[in-house]
Amino acid sequence: MQDLLVDYLVEHPQKEGSCFSLTCAICRKVWRSTPVIGKHTELEIGSAIAEEAMRDNRMCTFCGRPVCLNCFEDVEGIFLCVLCGQKLRGDRRKFCVIDKL
Ligand SMILES: [Zn+2]
Ligand SMILES: [Zn+2]
Repeated sequence: MQDLLVDYLVEHPQKEGSCFSLTCAICRKVWRSTPVIGKHTELEIGSAIAEEAMRDNRMCTFCGRPVCLNCFEDVEGIFLCVLCGQKLRGDRRKFCVIDKL
């Protein structure tokens, strides 16, 4: 899940080291990491930032997009963005009535 998140991180090089941002796929809220200072390998930076990002963001298990904590829901232990959550609940309700639209 963290590997996926890394793909969405945007690097902002700064004087004191790189800062990374992640945009919520639903409300477009931008999360920013603390600047990465010192010598690190790309892998170390990636996992450190991913860990930090995971505290305030979640990856939707269904569509694989990053969302902030306001736009994510935990449906029976599955992390979903609100859109997929709605879709899933809607689909379940429709499931018995309509097979295909
Ligand atoms: Zn959001
Ligand atoms: Zn989703």
